[in-house]
Amino acid sequence: MTKARILVLGAGFGGLELTSLLSEALGDSIEVTLIDKSTTFMFGFSKLDVMFGHKEADALRMPYSAYAKPGVKLVKSTITAIDPEARRVTTDDGVFEADYLVVALGAEYDFDATPGLEDTTEFYSIPGAEKLRQVLPTFTGGNAIIGVCGAPYKCPPAPSECALMLHDYLVTRGIRQQSTISLVLPLPSPVPPSPETSRALLAAFAERDIEFIPGARIAQVDNARNVAILDDKREMPFDLFLGVPKHRVPPVVLESGMSQDGWIPVNPRTLETNYPNVYAVGDGAATGTPKAGVFAEGAAKAVASALIARINGAGEPVQYDGFGTCYIEFGAGRIGKVEVDFFSGPTPTGNYYEPSVALRADKEHFGSSRRQRWFGL
Ligand SMILES: Cc1cc2nc3c(=O)[nH]c(=O)nc-3n(C[C@H](O)[C@H](O)[C@H](O)COP(=O)(O)OP(=O)(O)OC[C@H]3O[C@@H](n4cnc5c(N)ncnc54)[C@H](O)[C@@H]3O)c2cc1C
Repeated sequence: MTKARILVLGAGFGGLELTSLLSEALGDSIEVTLIDKSTTFMFGFSKLDVMFGHKEADALRMPYSAYAKPGVKLVKSTITAIDPEARRVTTDDGVFEADYLVVALGAEYDFDATPGLEDTTEFYSIPGAEKLRQVLPTFTGGNAIIGVCGAPYKCPPAPSECALMLHDYLVTRGIRQQSTISLVLPLPSPVPPSPETSRALLAAFAERDIEFIPGARIAQVDNARNVAILDDKREMPFDLFLGVPKHRVPPVVLESGMSQDGWIPVNPRTLETNYPNVYAVGDGAATGTPKAGVFAEGAAKAVASALIARINGAGEPVQYDGFGTCYIEFGAGRIGKVEVDFFSGPTPTGNYYEPSVALRADKEHFGSSRRQRWFGL
């Protein structure tokens, strides 16, 4: 019998979890090829640790060479073209074809959408976080802006976490009193599905004198004048800019014709795209749920169960439940938690857990369990 060929594009949260599940269920009876251009994986939240100098970037990188799962071949190559109709993918190292194709290439940053952003500082990419790690110690006080350039963006609470961590950082350096911190967010509140979490974050901002500017985005950065210009034309002078670029799917997905308005349309419960036997999971898929690793994993579970049922010719696939838990850095070593549920009710809901030092252990387990599961490290 010929083996089913499954091609998974992108070894991030979604691709790693999907291929792990397929391997566990079907092992060598299938032929899974997982393609990624990088040699290492890093959690999104690690960028905050890199930026504030809490940890070294190298210690946070997980090498793909440690990823070994029966039935899964990991190929390090850059994908240059995707033909979703033929389920054919071109890479720097040749062409791959599949019976089932899963696009898990995440979201990339559209610097061109925000004039001036490229010439200032952002903390959403690894090089950006590494650059800020060098820039932060040179800041001697003044106006700091955490500015989001568009929604949706990865991990909705991350800019709020950045503001609270920046406060701690400036206190430790003894320059908080001569500094202001402002957070510009395109959302109406810090975590819209959970009013309780938003209230707690707003209270934390008020306690620390952090200015919160909701419902606005950074439209331009004028680096000659050191001024951020909001979409409503307001001008905010700054001495330190911590940007979050506008997001969209990677160029190779845009060029494939799979995306609309920057994202891949999918059935939110099955992750099927408009093309037969082609799925999309994670940040690139327009599911209506947040762009976060935990949601990419949930979507990967649904696709894995659909593929397993189809290949086995038996079993009922589970649907994507749109449920996820996010940990939130509140500063001073305390972590809060929010569980959000996007699909059970008519509108998304969230359960909030007060920040505590104890929840730090939960967050650490979140990271270490994935590290162990995917990389055996
Ligand atoms: C500051 C910050 C904090 C965050 N905090 C959290 C958090 O606390 N909890 C949480 O759950 N999520 C968090 N996230 C979000 C999380 O990192 C992403 O949502 C998650 O990684 C998305 O998974 P994915 O599989 O869709 O894409 P990714 O993990 O981004 O993986 C996509 C992969 O595709 C590869 N790729 C892209 N283009 C190509 C190409 N042309 N050829 C080959 N390979 C390619 C990339 O190398 C990458 O490995 C945070 C993100 C940031 C930036």
